[in-house]
Amino acid sequence: MDKSSKIYVAGHRGLVGSAIYRKLQAEGYTNLVVRSRSELDLTNQQQVYDFFARERPEYVFLAAAKVGGILANNTYPADFIRDNLLIQTNVIDAAYRYGVKKLLFLGSSCIYPKFAPQPMKEEYLLSGKLEPTNEPYAIAKISGIIMCQSYRRQYGFNAISLMPTNLYGPGDNFDLETSHVLAALIRKFAEAKESGAQEVVVWGTGTPRREFLHVDDLADAALFLMLNYDDGEIVNVGVGEDISISELAELVADVVGYRGKIVYDTSKPDGTPRKLLDVSKLTALGWRPRISLRYGIRQTYEWYLSNRATARR
Ligand code: GDP
Repeated sequence: MDKSSKIYVAGHRGLVGSAIYRKLQAEGYTNLVVRSRSELDLTNQQQVYDFFARERPEYVFLAAAKVGGILANNTYPADFIRDNLLIQTNVIDAAYRYGVKKLLFLGSSCIYPKFAPQPMKEEYLLSGKLEPTNEPYAIAKISGIIMCQSYRRQYGFNAISLMPTNLYGPGDNFDLETSHVLAALIRKFAEAKESGAQEVVVWGTGTPRREFLHVDDLADAALFLMLNYDDGEIVNVGVGEDISISELAELVADVVGYRGKIVYDTSKPDGTPRKLLDVSKLTALGWRPRISLRYGIRQTYEWYLSNRATARR
């Protein structure tokens, strides 16, 4: 891939796609192709084929997906499995048919079994039962991985798959019903500080552990792998450290400057008890994250304050 290669970033308005788009621009890639959802419905096969036939991109970052936090996944399981299967099937197949040189597919750490040993190695894929709150999403993502591997095996199509851990950063979704935990906590603590509220409600018991990667680090890793990795085996992308939800709540409160109480709503699900990726494969390839959690939270909080009017919330 060189600076004038034609590169399609699918999902460029989302958290991940927008970060990849920014990264490519910053690195001097000049021939980027994007389409908004109203211009191109990726769940519609004909529209996707027509788009690839016309544009003929050489490289594809497949960052378009229906994503959401624990409550959204639990409430809209049909939408999560259908939209993701359609989007990825259409884009991967069209990319192969219309001569794309390489495609990068983004999975998720929730593809691993609920009770996988921690940290989770790539080889644990399909070794046990999934976490029920996001099984439909996870099954769709697993299908995407197997599809990439199968197209490589049968057709020699260069598709690679990376599995990011929980992501956050500028452009995140701050809607309290559908967001992931980090964006939700930034918004909850910011609003509590502003209104002088006495307490902030955090879902679940506070004991689950999660790993958080800044989306700009993910975009850096995605470009690194696009340039340096040509294998069907999946690659984890994370920071290699996790933190409990209660520790995270305290950290966000501290960054935001909220001094009230933190209470736990145990009627909300905890989800999987722990989700920490083993990142030794990516480390051995020569990549490391750069953004610390505290710095990343501060930067995302500042982004939220300045973009509240247009942010998804
Ligand atoms: P998950 O990693 O797929 O479980 O997705 P989430 O990021 O939505 O949730 C991670 C953990 O944070 C779960 O244990 C949630 O119960 C917990 N959590 C605590 N407060 C919140 C909140 O306000 N929103 C969300 N989405 N999760 C929360």
